[in-house]
Amino acid sequence: MKRVYNFSAGPAVLPEEVLREAAEEMLDYRGTGMSVMEMSHRSKVFEGILNEAESDLRELMHIPAGYKVLFLQGGAHLQFAMIPMNLMKNRTADYIVTGQWAKKAWKEAQIYGKANKIASSEDETFSYIPDCSDLDISSDADYVYICENNTIYGTKFHTLPNTKGKILVSDVSSCFLSEPVDVEKYGLIYGGVQKNIGPAGMVIAIIREDLITEDTLPGTPTYMKYKIHADANSLYNTPNAYCIYMCGKVFKWIQRTGGLAAMKARNEEKAALLYDFLDESRLFRGTVRKEDRSLMNVPFVTGDAQTDAAFVKAAEEAGFVNLKGHRSVGGMRASIYNAMPRAGVEALVEFMRKFEEENKAHV
Ligand SMILES: *Cc1c(COP(=O)(O)O)cnc(C)c1O
Repeated sequence: MKRVYNFSAGPAVLPEEVLREAAEEMLDYRGTGMSVMEMSHRSKVFEGILNEAESDLRELMHIPAGYKVLFLQGGAHLQFAMIPMNLMKNRTADYIVTGQWAKKAWKEAQIYGKANKIASSEDETFSYIPDCSDLDISSDADYVYICENNTIYGTKFHTLPNTKGKILVSDVSSCFLSEPVDVEKYGLIYGGVQKNIGPAGMVIAIIREDLITEDTLPGTPTYMKYKIHADANSLYNTPNAYCIYMCGKVFKWIQRTGGLAAMKARNEEKAALLYDFLDESRLFRGTVRKEDRSLMNVPFVTGDAQTDAAFVKAAEEAGFVNLKGHRSVGGMRASIYNAMPRAGVEALVEFMRKFEEENKAHV
């Protein structure tokens, strides 16, 4: 068996310890004689797995009592519709468009009401976060929407926007559990889990209870009402049980390794290794405004498409995989999520240094 360093943006690297544990429990989960995949979602054993996952997440993020935690299917994409269907009481919302994911959410919301683009960084290929300290927030906006970490472009909101009292809704898919978070600043935090937490196909939504109501837009399918899932403790229909089980293991792994503050410190160290190198390199450079850099997704280029392609190929052969940038931006992107060990980033930087040395001609 040979594991590679997987820099994929998602589905992404999971902690090796977690994968080993899951492998051990694959055929017989703790004396039940079956895998979690084969288990009734109504069984006591699964109920225990679900409740423990929720309570561990609550502890990690210090989620206050007035918030519900929902484990939902349909990935982040379904939330692009579920959010307006449930929250657009005035049929108006403000969107800050800082990348493809926010743009998709904004476009989807236009099906349901007036979705205003109140700020954007598209003028410079989403390479920065606009100043959101004094935006023209619509007086009747039901919420202000952001994508907190832009997976494709590698930017992150290091300061949350001033929503002037409006509810903040945030897609945290690619920065979930990467650092401590003040849940009370949000009405709704949600993220697909396949970037930083578990296998694909599920979303965790953390919603302030007063936002979970019967009052949804006319025509909202039963399945897309937060209230249905909240009342059923995320067991309205058969959930993605194995995914919940895996997420639960990752929560325990984060607890064991010191919680979110320790995670943030490690993520900052790992990101600094790469950014410091990019800043001093004569071949590679980062593409994002420094103060807006993400700790999770690090895009970089050489400035020459052929050299980029040669680098990606050579890296792959050396065991550093999925470094090709998103098809919309080209170049390279190293996603260095929670589960990417520091050794992986160190080895990558070493490899880049060597590549630079050997490709002096292009510098
Ligand atoms: C990956 C990603 C999505 C899309 O997730 P799906 O689960 O494929 O729907 C949405 N938002 C962000 C920030 C992402 O990184």
